[in-house]
Amino acid sequence: MSDPIQLFVPQFRIEECLTEIRECLEKGWTGLGFKTVAFEKAWCDYTGLPYGHFLSSATAGLHLAINVLKGAGGWVDGDEVVTTPLTFVSTNHAILYNGLRPVFADIDASLCLDPQSVLQRITPRTRAVVFVGMGGNTGRLDEIAKICSERGLKLVIDAAHMTGTRWLGRHIGGEADATVFSFQAVKNLPTADSGMICFRLAEHDELVRKLAWLGINKDTYTRTTGGGAYKWMYDVEEVGFKHHGNSIMAAIGLVQLRYVERDNAYRRQLASWYRAGLAGQAAVRSVDVVPGCESSCHLFQIRVGNRDALMLALNEHQVYPGVHYRDNTLYRMYAYAQGTCPEAARASDELISLPMHLGLGFDDVRRVVSLVLRYAR
Ligand SMILES: *Cc1c(COP(=O)(O)O)cnc(C)c1O
Repeated sequence: MSDPIQLFVPQFRIEECLTEIRECLEKGWTGLGFKTVAFEKAWCDYTGLPYGHFLSSATAGLHLAINVLKGAGGWVDGDEVVTTPLTFVSTNHAILYNGLRPVFADIDASLCLDPQSVLQRITPRTRAVVFVGMGGNTGRLDEIAKICSERGLKLVIDAAHMTGTRWLGRHIGGEADATVFSFQAVKNLPTADSGMICFRLAEHDELVRKLAWLGINKDTYTRTTGGGAYKWMYDVEEVGFKHHGNSIMAAIGLVQLRYVERDNAYRRQLASWYRAGLAGQAAVRSVDVVPGCESSCHLFQIRVGNRDALMLALNEHQVYPGVHYRDNTLYRMYAYAQGTCPEAARASDELISLPMHLGLGFDDVRRVVSLVLRYAR
C-alpha cells in the first residue's frame, strides 16, 4: 500500500518559528505591534509595495479594502462590484459585508476574469472590480487594470494565492488600489490565520490601520513605545473592526517569508513535472498561464470530462486532490446570478487541483500522473 498523497501539507521551519515566537513570549508582547511591525516592513521590502498592514485574515482584508474604497469614493449601498464566480466565497462575501452588490463576470482559459465579460457587466452603478489570481496566475490582470483606470473604477486584487507571483518580473499589487494576500494555514506562506492589505495610497493605509483596530487612532504599541505624556489617551474616529493581526502570527510569517522564494521555485518545479507528464493527453486539459506571469503555483489545476469519477478513483488509490472552486452562483447566496457565467459553470464541473506541496517529490508526481492518465476521460 502506498502512502497517502494529500492536496496540501504546509511546511513550517519549526525551530526558527519557535525562536521568533519565544521572543514575543519573553517580551510579553503577543498582540498588535512588535512582530507585526517587523513583518509589515519585511513584506514591503520583499514585494516592493509601498504599504502593507498585517491583518487577522485575507477575508478581513477584503472586507476592509472595499470598506475603505467605498468610504473614500462616496459609494452608496446597492452600488455594484464586478467579481468572479470562481473563487473562495470570502471574495464575494466581502462585497456583501459592505452593502454592495456582487455582479458576476465570466472567466477565461486562465480561470481568472475575462476582460471582455467585465466590460459587458459595467453599468452606471459599477464602482469596482475584484480580481482573483487563481492558483497564483495573473490571467489578464493588466487588461483589467487598464479597463478600471479608463472607466474610473477601483481595482481590488484578491491575491490570496499570489504571494510571490510576479508579472513581467515585478510582484503584483502595484496595478491595484488595494491588494490582499492570505497567510492562512495552507497558502504559500502559511501561518495559521493572517493576511496583508496593501493600498496604493498612503491615506488609505493610514485609515485601514484605524479601521482594523476598532477606529482607535493610536495603537497600543505606538502608545507604549512612543513615550510622552498622555500616551494612555486616544480618540475613536470611526466604527472600526477587530481585524488586525497579532505578533504570534507575524512571528511565524517572518520565518516563512525567508523561505517563500525557495518554496515557490520548488512548486514551479512540481508544476513542470506535472505538465511534462500530462502533456499531449486529450483527456486532460491544462489551465492557461499567460506569458509574462511567474506564478506562485499555489495550485496545479487540470480540467477533465469525468471530474467526480476521477476524484473517486484517485481517492481509492490514496491520492486526495481538491476542487478550486465551485461556481459561487451554485450557492443559494448567489443563485440570483445562475446561468450568467457559462465558462465558470463549465470549469466548476471539470476542475481538479492535484496535490501541490513541498513534501512531494518526483516519484509522487509520477504516481499521481499515472493515475490521472489511467482514469481521466
Ligand atoms: C484563502 C482565500 C481567501 C481567504 O483567506 P483567509 O486568509 O482564509 O481569510 C480569499 N480568497 C481566496 C481566493 C482564497 O483562496
